[in-house]
Amino acid sequence: MTDTLIASALAGFEGKFGYAATGVWSAPGRVNLIGEHTDYNEGFVFPFAINRHTFAAISLREDDLIRVASSFSTQTHEARVGSITKDDGHDWAAYPFGVAWAIQEMANSLLKDFAATGFDCYIESDVPVGAGLSSSAAIECSVALALNDIWGASLDRLQLARVGQLGENVIVGAPTGIMDQSASLLGETDHAVFLDCRSLESQSIELGFAREGLELLIIDTRVAHRLVDGGYASRRAACESGAASLGVDSLRDLSLADLGRAQETLDDVTFRRVRHVITENQRVLDTVAILQRSGPRAIGKLMHDSHESMRDDFEISVDELDTAVETAIRHGAIGARMTGGGFGGAAIALTPVEKIGEVSLSVIAEFEALGYAKPNIFAVSAAQGAKREI
Ligand code: ADP
Ligand code: MG
Repeated sequence: MTDTLIASALAGFEGKFGYAATGVWSAPGRVNLIGEHTDYNEGFVFPFAINRHTFAAISLREDDLIRVASSFSTQTHEARVGSITKDDGHDWAAYPFGVAWAIQEMANSLLKDFAATGFDCYIESDVPVGAGLSSSAAIECSVALALNDIWGASLDRLQLARVGQLGENVIVGAPTGIMDQSASLLGETDHAVFLDCRSLESQSIELGFAREGLELLIIDTRVAHRLVDGGYASRRAACESGAASLGVDSLRDLSLADLGRAQETLDDVTFRRVRHVITENQRVLDTVAILQRSGPRAIGKLMHDSHESMRDDFEISVDELDTAVETAIRHGAIGARMTGGGFGGAAIALTPVEKIGEVSLSVIAEFEALGYAKPNIFAVSAAQGAKREI
């Protein structure tokens, strides 16, 4: 699969620009195993890079023109190296342009004689868009690693993660955290990235899925994220007001021992939002500890507890996600939960290889019986992070 996509990135580049690319760089999408809505509360997350990748075929130019094209779109977008700004006309090209802008910002402040020239770039990808697998981080990190190499910016992977985030915040205009880029750049085969969103320290933790005969099923419900109705913003606001009422900078500063005080101080809704974040942070810590002590077959309950907390306390699940989770567990999954921001998107189910067929077919049948759209179900494994392919 990878070879085919590299070949198609090279062919796409040549077809668009009429000459051969210098190289191809890839970066994976990611899935978050546990730790939801904890990132903006300066808490813990535990994502891993998946075996679905975005490939960027790139060549430097001698002038200051940037041209980007993608197999996802017929249009080629252009910008000038020194004058990239937020512009609605950029469409998807805001992601590579954002990275080109952010690398220059960072390299100019760190290197004495950093100079960037234009480049041509063609994107190929098998990361599903909008399924909560961060196709956006995959495109950012493949282009960031490529430009870091060909511009000689000498940034390390932590700085490149920041580059992806900065580009997405400023040029795309999405106020996202650094989890997705960290997973895409720091991933290792059969490992997940335990990330402290306050200190930005990270640790690679072995999952042992392959050894234990487990795979992670993605069950994309195809329910579009309904973030537009303010659900996400209102959850963030509840977390902020809860932290303020309890006298802390962020919910990260609270632990299970503070739950009693929180219940006495806060109104019911804010208390439940806060309880989700406090218990979810603890579940990430427990997942890491249990993986190391007892292996992946022991983390199923934590995954399900996480789902219940999002369903009942944070109230960001939908019927399709609940159905996917409960059906998967009933038919042999070790643990399952919704993943991502909520209000739609995907669920994940940690499943023994021999149960993959039964779990998948049962979820499809249950969705059909309930009149839901057909879910898209596929397995992913934990893969190595961004790299130069050729
Ligand atoms: P997610 O990251 O969860 O997949 P986002 O909305 O954050 O969803 O990012 C998806 C956007 O990223 C797409 O709408 C598109 O603008 C851009 N994108 C991702 N992959 C590609 C690609 N291969 N080619 C062009 N644009 C892409
Ligand atoms: Mg994204």
